[in-house]
This record gives sequence, structure tokens and C-alpha cells, in this order.
Amino acid sequence: MSGRRIAKQRRRADVGIIGGGLAGLSLAYHLSQFHNLKILVVDDGMPKPDHIWGFWDNGSPHLELAREHALSQWWHWQIAEPGNAHVMRGQDYHYYAVSSATYMKALADKCSKANVRFINGTVMKTSIHENYTRMLMRDEQTVTAHHVFDTVNYITPHDCMKQHFLGQHIKVSKNTFNPGQVMLMDFRVSQEDGIHFMYVLPFTEKKAFIESTVFSQRPNEPEWYREQIAEYINRSLHLKGEQVTILKEEEGVLPMSQVKPKHNDGCIPFGLPANAMRASSSYAFAQISRQAYDYAKRETLIWGLPEAGADFFERWMDDVMLDVLNKKPELASHFFTRMASKVQADYFARFMNGRSGFVPKLMTINAMPSRPFLKSIVRF
Ligand SMILES: Cc1cc2nc3c(=O)[nH]c(=O)nc-3n(C[C@H](O)[C@H](O)[C@H](O)COP(=O)(O)OP(=O)(O)OC[C@H]3O[C@@H](n4cnc5c(N)ncnc54)[C@H](O)[C@@H]3O)c2cc1C
Repeated sequence: MSGRRIAKQRRRADVGIIGGGLAGLSLAYHLSQFHNLKILVVDDGMPKPDHIWGFWDNGSPHLELAREHALSQWWHWQIAEPGNAHVMRGQDYHYYAVSSATYMKALADKCSKANVRFINGTVMKTSIHENYTRMLMRDEQTVTAHHVFDTVNYITPHDCMKQHFLGQHIKVSKNTFNPGQVMLMDFRVSQEDGIHFMYVLPFTEKKAFIESTVFSQRPNEPEWYREQIAEYINRSLHLKGEQVTILKEEEGVLPMSQVKPKHNDGCIPFGLPANAMRASSSYAFAQISRQAYDYAKRETLIWGLPEAGADFFERWMDDVMLDVLNKKPELASHFFTRMASKVQADYFARFMNGRSGFVPKLMTINAMPSRPFLKSIVRF
């Protein structure tokens, strides 16, 4: 066979996936475990800085690999506002943290072993042909597949609320942290620039990840978050004068809204374009993993749109919550702390994960302060 023909065959597959991030590799991995398919992942090779993925789990099959590589797990998680703090104790559900670099490497290794092929390139557009979809790349090369998934192209409303954050891995000189308990949201910090809280993952008594997170329309300068974390370390953790070493930093901006897939001829939206992310929290790790597993495990693949990260009613609840938070940001700390005190930990975790069933939804609705929520309910 000529070299050109071999090259052409290498660029043909049963399944093509645009984007080799979490969604693309999760889908490739699970499809390769359940089906005998030629799978090809196209990624533009942009750097992916390491960061933490936090998620709840109760031993589900779609998170098996993530549990295997978890940095730590916690049974207790806390939400606090001035004068009021509440600790939730998970029974079946634990909170886990995994390094994105470690997990992506584990996924990539699994994919390579299952003969998933990778192509470096930027997909510019796609077109439908008789029984395949063609992906045209920036360098004008093409890749074709019978079914193409798009994990990267979606539209968010330009004025939507965003979650923006900067986190630091720190090491301190004296025993400070309780490695058994996560601080999910500590609102006992400045609320002048939007809904603001600290997120603390304690790995040992001396090592933790501390993140300053804001819900608002526009991100702040990185220095702003650094100052907030320094203030928190001094005042709330009482470490003034102690040695604090910043080991590394990470940052991000995530949309807090339902999204629409950008139309790409012949592509099936997957991951964020298929609304895997929870709009009210921007959690997407467990949801993307579940979406990929559930899609792939069917004996007969249907090649349709995958299930969103939340069901219809939860998406409506997310819209109502976001409307209230937009209009009355001063209610946020009370609302989340109230949720922590009124909703049982496992139900809370299930609601956060999405597709939670009747009781978690009922308990969450019951925890919402009625007046502002009723006003927003009327809107939706
Ligand atoms: C810093 C950070 C922290 C987060 N923390 C959490 C958390 O704690 N818990 C949680 O549940 N969620 C978290 N999330 C949200 C969510 O889990 C991530 O956004 C997740 O990585 C989304 O995966 P993805 O595959 O959609 O996107 P990505 O991982 O960004 O992958 C997309 C890939 O496609 C490539 N690409 C883009 N365009 C093209 C193109 N045209 N052609 C080819 N390749 C292309 C990109 O370079 C990239 O490699 C976090 C997100 C960030 C950024």
C-alpha cells in the first residue's frame, strides 16, 4: 500500500472527537471499553495547566479511575457565614480531589492501550458527506469519521454570571488544618466585589489548597485574589507571623449558565456543549464522566444527544437560583449555609452531582428562603 493511502486510512475512523480534554478523553476511554470502534481524537495541543478537580462520589463506576488517582477524600464538608457555620457529614458520599494533570495522563494511557489514536490539529469546520463527517483542520488536512463529537464549541450568554477564582497550594510551619474536613464555602471574607468565599482543601495538617472564588460578571485582577487569600491566612487561620510557602497557583473562569452548542455540521455536541456543567455551581467533572460512561455503556449506540448534567427540573432550579443570586447577591451566604443545615449531606452531594431523584430536590427547595425564590419562580 502506498504511503499516501496509509496516511489517509489513519485519518479515517468510526468515531472522531473534537477536543482531547476531559470530555473528549472520557468519551474515547468509555467507548473503547464497551465497543470495538476505531476512535480518533483531534486536539490542538494548547497547554493545559494542572489544577484540582473536586467531586462527590459514592463508588460509581464512571468515577472508578478518578477515585484510584484521588489526592485525598473527605467525609465532612462545611459551609460558613458570619456567625453561623455548618458541617455536613457524608455517609455514602465522600468529597474527592484529583490533579487534572495526573488524571488526564491516566485517561490518555488507558486510551492509548485501547488503540485510540490522537491527531494534533485545530478543527476549523466540519461538513456532512454521504455516510461520514469531514473535519477540516487549520493546516488544511482532513479527518473523516462516521460519527463526530464536538466537545469544544458552545455559546454562553455574554452577560451571564461567572465563577472566577485563583487558588494557591500552600505549606505552613505549624499544624493548622483539619485533614478530615473540607471548607466548601467560607463567606466570612470581603463581599464588596461580588459573592465571595474561600474554598479550602486540607491535605495534611500543614498543607492545603486555598482558593478565593467570586460569582460575578467580571473577573478581578489576579493580585486581588492573592490579597484575599493572604488576608484569610492571617486573620481566619491565625497564621500572622508564621512561615507560609506558596507551592503553586491555579486560576480559572467558568460560566454559570445553561449553554447552547454552536452548530457544527454533522457533529454531536458532547460535554460542555451538551450542558454537562451544573449552571448553579460550575461543577462539571463528575457530570462529564457520567455523561461519557452512560453514553458508551449502551449495547447499541444511538448516536444522539447525550443527557445533560442535570435533569429538566434541576436545570429550572439552577435558573431560579441564579436569578435570585443575580438580583440579591447579599442573600448568597445565608442561602448556602441554610442549605448545608437543612439538606442531609448525601442528598446535598446528589443534588450537586445532578440527576438526583425526588428527595434531594425536595429538600433543596425546602431550604430556599421562600420570598425571593417565589418572585424568581414567577419569572421562569
Ligand atoms: C481551573 C479549573 C478548575 C476546575 N475545577 C473544577 C472542579 O473542582 N470540579 C468540577 O466539577 N469542575 C471543575 N472545573 C470545570 C470542568 O471540570 C472543566 O472545565 C473540564 O476540564 C471541562 O472539560 P472539557 O473537555 O470540556 O474542556 P477542556 O478540558 O478545556 O478540553 C478541551 C480541549 O479541546 C482543545 N480544543 C479547543 N478547540 C479545539 C479545536 N477547534 N480543535 C481541536 N482541539 C480543540 C483544547 O485545547 C482542549 O485541549 C474546573 C475548570 C477549570 C478550568
